[in-house]
Amino acid sequence: MRLIKSVEEMQQASLECRMMGRKIACVPTMGALHEGHLSLFEQAKESADVVVVSIFVNPTQFAPNEDFHSYPRDLDRDLGICQEKAVDFVFLPEADDMYPPDHSFFVGEEEISKILCGVSRPNHFRGVSTICTKLFNIILPDFVVVGMKDAQQAVLLNRLIRNLHFPIELIVGPTVRDDDGLALSSRNMGLSESQRKEALKIYQALCSAQQLTEKGIINSDRLIAEVTNHLGQSLRLRVIYVKAVNLDDMKDVREVTSGQTLLAVAVWMDQLRLIDNIVL
Ligand code: AMP
Repeated sequence: MRLIKSVEEMQQASLECRMMGRKIACVPTMGALHEGHLSLFEQAKESADVVVVSIFVNPTQFAPNEDFHSYPRDLDRDLGICQEKAVDFVFLPEADDMYPPDHSFFVGEEEISKILCGVSRPNHFRGVSTICTKLFNIILPDFVVVGMKDAQQAVLLNRLIRNLHFPIELIVGPTVRDDDGLALSSRNMGLSESQRKEALKIYQALCSAQQLTEKGIINSDRLIAEVTNHLGQSLRLRVIYVKAVNLDDMKDVREVTSGQTLLAVAVWMDQLRLIDNIVL
């Protein structure tokens, strides 16, 4: 495993790989690695010759009132994991190199970024689009591997790659869950035992809607009401949104189309914002 902090050195290393005809898969992360990330490393390895994992807690995707400063960071552990998993390169840029003092360019998206999480986090996807564009230009990947846990981000990146003509194939890996169903997330590290127990209701709520669809109920309103009611049984969960959307463009749907409708949830668990989704 080679650790690279400099933008120029990463670009050079990627160019050398490409000149040797080696395919590069990139897995962008914010660190605090867990099994969800590791499943993406595996998929990257299956698709390409060289795996580049980036670790960068991207300040521009956090609003001033959000958890940028308290976001979990454990670099030594992360590097140990990358070494153990035989990642080829870890790209660990400095914030000042990604955003130098004269930085004034952002990548804006006008549709997907405005809905779901974009309503309560208005600049979040601008930050995501900007950092991913930079990473694509630095790492020069053939494949980018992301998780379905952040389904809206995956759809946004798919659009970004196509609209901005990056010669990249996006691979979206399934959500990895704990045995009890809780979707793995770096932010889960901030959950107390009792909060974690309450957070389980998120996946249970999604599953209760899934069960209704299996009985033939496909009306979105009815399913959203079911999930909202289920989440409301916890005094500590506050619903930000529950939406049934089309997987391709994240637009609301009135009825479920099997395999094509995403049921997506965002909640506050006390001070932590958690998201989850399932494909119905
Ligand atoms: P993050 O470090 O949270 O920015 O996530 C980095 C990548 O890992 C993103 O593509 C996420 O969608 C993905 N990811 C996060 N949690 C999971 C999970 N539980 N299962 C699969 N992928 C995940």
